[in-house]
Amino acid sequence: MQQVARSFALAFNYLPRIHRVMLGSLTIFTLAITVLRPYIYSPAVERPATGIFLLEKHSLPVLEPEASELLDQTIPDNDEDIPKDELDERMAGEAGVHEYIISTGDTLSSVLTQYGIDIADVTALARQHPALRNLKISQSLSWTLTAEGYLQCLTWNISRSETRTYERVNGSFKESIANITGEWRNTTLTGKLNGSFVTSARIAGLTDCDINSVIKALQWQLDFRKLRTGDQFSVLTSREVLNGQSIQSQLLGVRLRTGGKDYYAFRADDSKFYNRDAAGVARGFMRFPTIKQFRVSSNFNLRRCNPVTGRIAPHRGVDFAMPVGTPVLAVGDGEVIVSKRDGAAGNYVAIRHSRQYMTRYMHLKKLLVTQGQKVKRGDKIALSGNTGRSTGPHLHYEVWINQQAVNPLTAKLPRTEGLTGNDRTKYLAKVKQMLPQLHLH
Ligand SMILES: [Zn+2]
Repeated sequence: MQQVARSFALAFNYLPRIHRVMLGSLTIFTLAITVLRPYIYSPAVERPATGIFLLEKHSLPVLEPEASELLDQTIPDNDEDIPKDELDERMAGEAGVHEYIISTGDTLSSVLTQYGIDIADVTALARQHPALRNLKISQSLSWTLTAEGYLQCLTWNISRSETRTYERVNGSFKESIANITGEWRNTTLTGKLNGSFVTSARIAGLTDCDINSVIKALQWQLDFRKLRTGDQFSVLTSREVLNGQSIQSQLLGVRLRTGGKDYYAFRADDSKFYNRDAAGVARGFMRFPTIKQFRVSSNFNLRRCNPVTGRIAPHRGVDFAMPVGTPVLAVGDGEVIVSKRDGAAGNYVAIRHSRQYMTRYMHLKKLLVTQGQKVKRGDKIALSGNTGRSTGPHLHYEVWINQQAVNPLTAKLPRTEGLTGNDRTKYLAKVKQMLPQLHLH
């Protein structure tokens, strides 16, 4: 080996100067690629080997794309560190189905793009089916994606009796309309906790869909993991019955008694849940995890192509370029579920805010919170840094809703407002009517 090296060095010295320079830089370049390889390649995104080499070759000349685009391509999308339980599985719903309830100011495009759906799909859909431009508050959309992350099928629940479905067929979207008309009946189901809430609720006759709704409705008022045997609940649902079969149901109100205290949530006309006094139960989130707003150096993009490898490396968050040591703040009230050093993410913190929401903060210099700690909106949780697979000082910030990463810059985040004026009056009248139906045994 030594001999080989010596003869190589000898031959190298005999070369003309220009050749030496070229050979030298080529060697350094090759070594650099060899060393950087494991950092550039994402082990999390494995695709069939065919084509990868071709892409790599084509991509070599752009080893130094815009620095801003390279900040952290390779955050693995694993969320193994995040503690999960039975309730989380409930909240995740059917595998791969995303659901959204239309609220004030939403458009087809604002809803779908915050979940990372290609704007070209959204435009094509709205052009082919202009009716979709008239979404109304409290209607719901649900959708599934293709393996590549493109829109496969969108379902629009227009009213209790009409549903339209748009399915991708040969590059366009085919519409089908379904009308169901059963009879709606109100039902009260009551039960006592014996084991987990999910099990006890099933025994009381709640469907999985009802259980999801109950957890969502009360998530900001209490922690379902802390319920105890003997706690009582009463659930008022409206069920559509067709030929003696319940075909769908809607949660109207819920009462839960734990530790001698009653918690309530009722559905308003906007399909959101409020407490007995018509106050909003969610405390608002901050849009940015810092006091000052910093430049976005890399956007949320689920189909981002790694410029170096040519592979799809989803970027599940947004990168803010900021000096090392900038205070990082919790965007909402919650509990720290991860605070540790991880390979690619560097020092990172994950916070769970009620059941549906989670935020993650990566490449931190210093962690200021510990796992299990409760935090309030605006609390300082860390100092920003450049740790893990990061090529410059920045904060990688993620927002997850129902275990799906969403665009932190456009996602609809919980707000604080309760109902006011006429909406409040109508709501309180409804509550008065529903309260006696929420009896406990
Ligand atoms: Zn990032």
